[in-house]
Amino acid sequence: MIEFRSVSYAFDDVPVLGELSLTIDDGEFVLLAGANGSGKTTLLRHCNGLLTPDTGQVLVDETSVADDLIAARSSVGMVFQHPRDQFVSATVGADVAFGPENLGLERTEIDRRVEAALEAVNMAGRDDERIDALSGGEQSRVAIAGALAMEPTHLVLDEPFTGLDEPARRSVLARLEALSADGTGVLLATHDLRDVLGLADRVIAMRDGQVAVDGPPEDALGELEGLEVRVPDR
Ligand code: ADP
Repeated sequence: MIEFRSVSYAFDDVPVLGELSLTIDDGEFVLLAGANGSGKTTLLRHCNGLLTPDTGQVLVDETSVADDLIAARSSVGMVFQHPRDQFVSATVGADVAFGPENLGLERTEIDRRVEAALEAVNMAGRDDERIDALSGGEQSRVAIAGALAMEPTHLVLDEPFTGLDEPARRSVLARLEALSADGTGVLLATHDLRDVLGLADRVIAMRDGQVAVDGPPEDALGELEGLEVRVPDR
């Protein structure tokens, strides 16, 4: 469970999150929508302690993220908007192994996780390929594999479709759908709800650092007007 308790956060005295509270249950597929600048990325970065609340608390599985950063980073896998910024190694397998290596796991366990994570994103057996030679969609999938290799309870993704063409977008979506079906919680920030709405259990939409809409997709859809969210054509 990820829980925000009255979280406020400001960049240089400019308030971005204002006493924001919300709870995301294990296994839920949640879409985080809202206009550019509404605070989605700032919210996501609190989920694993990349940012720390000025006031309030973020808890992962009932433990404060600020008190146990390592536990939070093991439970919450993050995929950033530009996967290129996330890679630390030149090749696919080495990059996906990086997180588990930092957990200090045995080599056999690391190898098992890398294999399973690459399998989960349809990149099995491509360990030795250079990341910079992959397409954008493949790079996104490697970034997701890197997060999965930590075997997180929650996968948090920030606009993962940026720069992806339609086939790549579909392949990433199919992977998210399968992961969600297997019980991984997904928190996906996007300003474009087309295609993804059908996968979600819940839509949270932000406005000015606050939760403006929170509910099942069929209810939320009618309330998104004025939030600069792209919705499916009716
Ligand atoms: P979103 O992800 O919804 O586009 P962000 O969380 O990125 O929103 O940004 C929310 C607000 O915080 C915006 O007004 C943005 O300009 C500001 N902001 C984001 N990152 C920084 C930063 N590093 N320094 C100063 N202001 C920032």
